[in-house]
Amino acid sequence: MIDIISEIGDSKRIAIMGHMRPDGDCVGACLGLKLYLDNALKDAKVTVFLEKPSETFSYIKNYGNIDSDYDCKEAPDVCFSLDSSTPDRLGEGLLIFKSAKKTICIDHHISNRGFAMINHIEPEASSTCELLALMFEDRYMDKEVAKALFTGIMHDSGVFQYSCMSRRSFEVVGRLCDYDFDRSRIIDESFYQKSYVQNQILGRTLLESILFMDGKCIAGSVDRKTMDFYNITYKDLDGIVNQLRVTRGVEVAIFMYEIHSLEYKVSMRSNGKVDVARIATLFGGGGHVRAAGCTMNGTIYDVLNNLSLHIEEQLKAIEDADDR
Ligand code: 5GP
Ligand code: MN
Repeated sequence: MIDIISEIGDSKRIAIMGHMRPDGDCVGACLGLKLYLDNALKDAKVTVFLEKPSETFSYIKNYGNIDSDYDCKEAPDVCFSLDSSTPDRLGEGLLIFKSAKKTICIDHHISNRGFAMINHIEPEASSTCELLALMFEDRYMDKEVAKALFTGIMHDSGVFQYSCMSRRSFEVVGRLCDYDFDRSRIIDESFYQKSYVQNQILGRTLLESILFMDGKCIAGSVDRKTMDFYNITYKDLDGIVNQLRVTRGVEVAIFMYEIHSLEYKVSMRSNGKVDVARIATLFGGGGHVRAAGCTMNGTIYDVLNNLSLHIEEQLKAIEDADDR
């Protein structure tokens, strides 16, 4: 674990950043660390640089103070990279990160090779927020910090459901529950609740999804035209891949949306047999064994052909091992 406060020492300019298209863990970690440092440090300036997150996270304190213009005039003394598996995933933040005197990376992606001066990477952790919670001292914690970290652990574990939730993860959540905030409301409003149009696009994608490889694989996609028609962004597509994943018999779910003509952002989810991080890494992406992503070129059929080759290969290897 990193002793965050002593690593900062008497540094005055602190930057915090996370990955592009920030999810709940990324937003919770960045704001949680800012809130914690604001409580702990007397006269340091702590800034979160992050692509604008979904409004669903606006209940986390300091959401409104996120700098999404990356307006950083002076190089930071210390820069934290949270929940980002590679420097490239910092997007516009990368330049600020590179300019910092000291860099600290805290993450739980198996594909993270440790790109900062100080690194704490634990692929077994449920979330980056779990790791932060373990580094945070009680005396600088408060309800707002707890809400931020709770959000991150809850989102990355599918409401504490996935196997990434260890005894330690539950203990961390237990400690956060000592603080008085409305947990059920946060779970409902930030995880489950969808707008009408988000539900429409979910329904449409499920309706048009294709099942292949003997029902072991399911895929759904949303093209640019449809996104324009519903006037939605990628933030409205959250959760679709998880709904595909819970189709009975499915080992791998693939969801993709068109970023540019013939370029797709791909999300994969595995029910345990297939290591989707390995496949995503082959195509320049990364992630976790059961949840990973990458960007791929071609038509949706090109994407599916390329991916299914590797999925089949892994499933075949398991079958062969079972036969032996
Ligand atoms: P999602 O499918 O929810 O976008 O992402 C699932 C996991 O894969 C997340 O942990 C995310 O950080 C990672 N991931 C998604 N897309 C990419 C990508 O393009 N590159 C890398 N390195 N990781 C990704
Ligand atoms: Mn995460």
